[in-house]
Amino acid sequence: MDDLEHMDGLDVSGCERCPDLVDSRSRIVNGVGPADAAVVFVGEGPGAEEDARGEPFVGRSGDVLNGALADHGLRRRDVRITNCVRCRPPDNRDPTGEELANCRPYLERELDLIDPDVVVALGKVPAQHLLGRDVAVTSEAGTVESVELGSARRDVLICVHPAATLYDRSQEATFEAAIETAATIVGAEGGQSSLGDF
Ligand code: URA
Repeated sequence: MDDLEHMDGLDVSGCERCPDLVDSRSRIVNGVGPADAAVVFVGEGPGAEEDARGEPFVGRSGDVLNGALADHGLRRRDVRITNCVRCRPPDNRDPTGEELANCRPYLERELDLIDPDVVVALGKVPAQHLLGRDVAVTSEAGTVESVELGSARRDVLICVHPAATLYDRSQEATFEAAIETAATIVGAEGGQSSLGDF
């Protein structure tokens, strides 16, 4: 099977590689954001709201992410947001290793096409998936590691998942600091594309 059989440009459609996810999803949730974004945020997989609306990070985690982006001069519409797996796992369980592997060619292709300056791993699952090792997200958040992804080496910034700040307020500062690092890497201080507003 061609790894990219179901991919047209940045979008995947009609993929049925993961039987459990085909059963649990309402739709495939592709990444959103410009095809030339300087930063790509990678979450774990769609939740209920994302599955219903067909867009990553549009539920409570999305509110947290959007707020942090705005606080650090990044606008949601200027960044790329995607997930390790594009279909909602049943009961919001973590994607299995096989599901992550099935979806990985799509993610790698997306990163190849976008060619960002930095990839931000939002939480433990994406950090471990992208870096290929165990990650202690809270203590490693804010660090950048270069890793082979698709056809290039990429800088991956480790960040706690936005939802972690909802369960544990002490994670807020760690989350914000990592988003600030992402904004600094892409030169967003004071508002990345704010000239476009004038
Ligand atoms: N959490 C994720 O990891 N991804 C989403 O798209 C939404 C919530």
